Amino acid sequence: MSNKNRFQELAELDKKHFLHPTSSIKQQQVDGPAFIFSEGKGIYLYDILGNKVMDGMSSLWNVNIGHGRKEIVEAAAEQMSKLAYSSCFNTFSNEPVIKLAEKISQITPGDLNTTFFTSGGSESNDTAIKLVRHYWIIKGEKDRKKIISREKSYHGLAMGATNATGLKPFRDFSNTFSPDFFHVEDQSIEALVDLIEKEGPETIAAFISEPVQGSGGVHVPPVDYFKECRNVCDKYGILFIADEVITGFGRTGKYFGMEHFGVIPDIMSIAKGVTSGYAQLGGVVISKKIHEDLIELSTDTFLHGYTYSGHPTACAVALRNIQVIEEENLIENARLMGEEMLKGFKWIQQEQSIVGEVRGLGLLGAIELGKGQSTNERFNNPLAPLVVKEAAKRGLMFRSVIFDGQDALVFSPPLIINKHEVHKMIEIISDSISAVKLKHNEKELI
Ligand code: PLP
Repeated sequence: MSNKNRFQELAELDKKHFLHPTSSIKQQQVDGPAFIFSEGKGIYLYDILGNKVMDGMSSLWNVNIGHGRKEIVEAAAEQMSKLAYSSCFNTFSNEPVIKLAEKISQITPGDLNTTFFTSGGSESNDTAIKLVRHYWIIKGEKDRKKIISREKSYHGLAMGATNATGLKPFRDFSNTFSPDFFHVEDQSIEALVDLIEKEGPETIAAFISEPVQGSGGVHVPPVDYFKECRNVCDKYGILFIADEVITGFGRTGKYFGMEHFGVIPDIMSIAKGVTSGYAQLGGVVISKKIHEDLIELSTDTFLHGYTYSGHPTACAVALRNIQVIEEENLIENARLMGEEMLKGFKWIQQEQSIVGEVRGLGLLGAIELGKGQSTNERFNNPLAPLVVKEAAKRGLMFRSVIFDGQDALVFSPPLIINKHEVHKMIEIISDSISAVKLKHNEKELI
């Protein structure tokens, strides 16, 4: 069967039997799959038609060490052949989970010391939310159950994570408006303090934030923002949860995003880059103080756990992945290539009349489209999705963010990217913006 026929056959099956995550169901029925990927190598993905695309998103902000790494395959195979899975409930344990928990305690800042493992970011944030509420119960402050997160935040789509997510369409989707979740203006300390005072500090369990908001449009807050948040939390006795699901494991040019802001959270959610997507794993890292309190004050079973908490194969993959990040200096590379990427964005901003703000930290970046650099005015219909389509035709994959009236292109390439590849990326982005402008004459867009 020719590749084309194979593609068509699979595309029909995809439409019929596969409900895609975070997708347009109607569009899927019209277009079918844009790519049916069959192979990944370095920063590139290949589909069954032989197309090659640069993975400018590290797929879902997660494939930090790039695709097709044989050493990870070997680590997984070795662990699977010895012990693929065993439970960690009660006091059962396994060697990879113990070693990974130790490694995470060494690389996370401050006294973050002990990890509860999950299968991904949403479970991590649900766990963090449940954990802080449980913590306040055993501390004798059971009224502290409210969770404050920021507008434009994305914390995943399990029930607790959806409630915490500051992008309202995700909550509207399933009428997910549980009590005790509050969303505060995203870069305002005054709004945070007002909300805490209004709700009563003694009712607030935790404040949760990504160091750099990812899915909400790659927003980097002012340098002092988190220090002030930390001070506010300390003043009112509120726990600070950093959602490092995207920003962890080198993405921003430091091991963890909060390190840029000089803030040590009480709790940190991790996932994605911990395994670079080679296995499903997440975790919640808690401070020594919280761990000691849990040990001292727990009187009953810790009634929270997932079948795959501490999965030996996933943990072995994570250990090998972290080793690659360290041996290949990928955190430093993310910092250097991030600077190169931002330089490229600034060049595009000069070249293209419809580019507004550009921003980034390490290998996380965004380009806003609008009616020029000096204005925040947007076009009536967002252009970013059209640019994404043009770029895919030219061999580059990235995402658009159009929530909250934004019209942004967002990027998160693998940490192994080199200068030449960054330049190629910039060239394709600029060409794709030009193509959209050409197809839709500028006046018509306005
Ligand atoms: N937190 C952040 C900051 C994320 O970006 C994501 C996913 O993109 C999640 C949590 C949810 O992670 P998962 O999709 O692995 O459940």
